[in-house]
This record gives sequence, C-alpha cells and structure tokens, in this order.
Amino acid sequence: MKGTLMATTASRSQQIIEQAQRYIPGGVSSANRLVEPNLVFTRAQGAYIFDAEGKRYIDYHAAFGPPLLGHCHPEVQQRAAEAMASIDVIGVGSSELEAQLAQKICEHVPSAEKVLFCNSGSEATYAALRLARAVTGRQKIIKFQGCYHGWHDAVLMNVISPADKVGQRDPLSAGMLPQAIENTLVLPFNDLDSVRQVLEEQGSEISAIILELIPHNIGTVLPHLEFVQGLRDLSSRYNVVLIFDEVVTGFRHGLGGYQAVLGVTPDLTTMAKSIANGFPLAALAGRADLLDHCKPGGDVFFAGTFNAHPASVAASLAVIDILERPESYATLFDLGKRMRDGLRAIIQRYGINATVAGFGSVFLLYFMESPIEKYEDLLRNDVEKFVAYRRALIKRGIYELPVNLKRNHISLSHTVADIDESLEAADAVLQELG
Ligand code: PLP
Repeated sequence: MKGTLMATTASRSQQIIEQAQRYIPGGVSSANRLVEPNLVFTRAQGAYIFDAEGKRYIDYHAAFGPPLLGHCHPEVQQRAAEAMASIDVIGVGSSELEAQLAQKICEHVPSAEKVLFCNSGSEATYAALRLARAVTGRQKIIKFQGCYHGWHDAVLMNVISPADKVGQRDPLSAGMLPQAIENTLVLPFNDLDSVRQVLEEQGSEISAIILELIPHNIGTVLPHLEFVQGLRDLSSRYNVVLIFDEVVTGFRHGLGGYQAVLGVTPDLTTMAKSIANGFPLAALAGRADLLDHCKPGGDVFFAGTFNAHPASVAASLAVIDILERPESYATLFDLGKRMRDGLRAIIQRYGINATVAGFGSVFLLYFMESPIEKYEDLLRNDVEKFVAYRRALIKRGIYELPVNLKRNHISLSHTVADIDESLEAADAVLQELG
C-alpha cells in the first residue's frame, strides 16, 4: 500500500499528525492552524475540546469564533440533521428554510433589506467588493490596517504587519495580482482624517470602504463612534459603498451585529462564523437596490453549488431561535464580563504590565499598556509573553490559541464554573510569568 507509515509505538496524536503531514501541505488545511504545541483534537462538546489522548480543554479559541452556542449544540445538530433527512442539495430554485432565514436576517440586521447566502466569509467579502465595483464603476477600495477580510487578492494584506510594513502595502501571499494590490488603499483604523484626505484626492476612484467594526483579527480594538459615523457620512457624500465586515461580530455581539450596537448602518454587510454555529454559512446582506444587481440575469454574477446549504440554513434558524431568547445575550455578556473583571483583578494583584480587552463574549489579555486605539499601538505587545502565557494555560487545560493577538470566545455552553476554573489557571500562570 502506498505510504503506510503508522509507527505502532507512536501516540494516537502523533500518528494523526504524521499522516496529515505526509498528505496535506504542512498537515493543515488553513493558515494559522499549525501552532505549537501541535495538538490533535478528536472531539468537541459544549465548552470543551478533547485531544486524541482524551485530555479535556476549556475551549476559548472556538475555531476563530463559530460555536457561539457551544460545540455540537444538540438543538442545532438536530435541526440540521432533520433538514438533511428530507432534502440535501437540489440546485434549483430556493428552499422554504432559505426564505425563512433571509426574512429573519432582514428583521434583525439594520442594513439588511435583502440577503444572499454563500459558504465562507471570504466569498461574502469578495462578492461585496465586486458588487461595489459594479455599481460605482470604480476600482479602488479602502481597507484598514489590522482588519482581515479573507484570502482573496483585494484584501489579503496589512493584517498583523511588522513595524516596517505599516504604512505600506503588505501582501500576505505570493501570486496575488499586482493590480488588485495596487487598487487597495490601506489606512489607519480610527483615523477619519486620513480617510477624508484620500476621498478628497481620489474620491471619484474609490468604490468601497470595507472594515471590521471591531478589528477582532488583532484582538479587540474598539472603534470610536465618530469614526464609524464619519465613514458613513463620507461614503454617502462620495457615493462610495460602505461595507461592514461582521464575519466575526455578526450574531456574536447581537442578532443585529455590532452595527445595531453602534447605531450606524452600512450599505452592505458580510456575516459568517457564528451565524450557523459551526456549519459553513455566510451571508451578504444590504440595500435591496444593490443586492438586486446579483439576481439571475442581473449584471453581477453570484453563484455557488453549496450556497444556502440546507444543513447550514437549518442550523442558522436554530441559532436565531436560541439567540432570540432574552436570557441568551445577557448570559453571554455576563460571562464575558466575569472573565474580563477576573483577569483585571489578577493583573492588578501581581502588578503585571498587561491590558484586558474585549467586548461581549470576546476577551483577551495584551501584554502591554493601554490605550489601544489603532494597530500601531499593538506593536508594543510583548509577543513572547503573550504566547508563553497561552502555552502555559494549554498545559493546564485551558485552550487559547498561542498566536500573537488572537482573540478568545466564550459560548453559551461555558458556565460560571468554567470561567472560574480558567481564572484560577490564569492566576497561577501569571504569578509564575510575572
Ligand atoms: N472577515 C473577517 C472579519 C474574518 O475574521 C474572516 C475570517 O477569519 C473572514 C472575513 C474570512 O472568512 P472565511 O475564513 O470564512 O473565509
């Protein structure tokens, strides 16, 4: 047999890693999944993930965010299984569930007059930008340093840039089209003046402004309300399409997304991750007059074999039912606050140079002083300590991804006891690290 390589004495984890590394480049199917310690998780349930040797971890990485209700949530699993038992993929027309989900999203998300479904956040942002180019007839876009919008050429740049690349274009892959890179202008987050200046000079060439309302891809940098309102005003004045990328914040910070929290409405919104609690689903929502360009026969092509897959759509409807219960967000936000308050008390007790950040169910500890208002501030983070802290937590059964600036997520399956157990571990690790 080709490539039989199982060493009989290797642990189950080692066997899986060796097999994966033999047949998958780097052993993983997505960047950022290969981290030290290289663990193999074989089970996920509620707030916990279990490695191949059966060790339990309280999971805050949460696959970069999707399992908002907890892993393998029974109501979500059941609704998805029921949907799949009666219909899988037809590829003609729309389904009853898809129409119901579109209506629900339009009821909850302020900017959503119509919705299109696809499978990933990258697809949604790609489609949003193509649509913006089509309706404006312009090519350039504005994005912000520290925001991630997926793997496609127009946006794959300037997320976690080294100091010497800030202020320049910092593409993250070989093979990107130079024209795509050149047409993306990267500006500092929370800096309205720089946006105003670019629009004054090049407004007639800019099709879209795209941003994460909270750049969670660098942890948590909260937006100034005046910045977001200013973007809204400037976009309207220059006929630029304003896109809020709520791939992380959509449903996590409220059924209306973070736009509902801020009270500022974009032209287009992208959502993914939490909206189906782990099933692959993304949405492009927004103004009907814009989305209607994507209808069959319209001038903007939008398609996908698995778009609005019944399992994902049914899962998302189940997620909405649960999040519509008044106690859901109260519980999530209380757990987040308990974690952040607990961490603050620990760093104060030991006099550690660290800042607790987050919003709602998201939290993290930066090893640096506040204020944190833009990407440049995060260049002061002590990366070595940040990673060492997380590796030490992992040893104690608390999983936070040991990669610089990554945020943590609490789910509805986490309990007060889980938070307190995690704080105890954090206390011990921080006391040791100093
Ligand atoms: N937008 C944001 C804000 C994201 O965080 C991500 C993924 O992390 C994406 C877009 C891309 O989503 P996906 O990985 O589903 O393609």
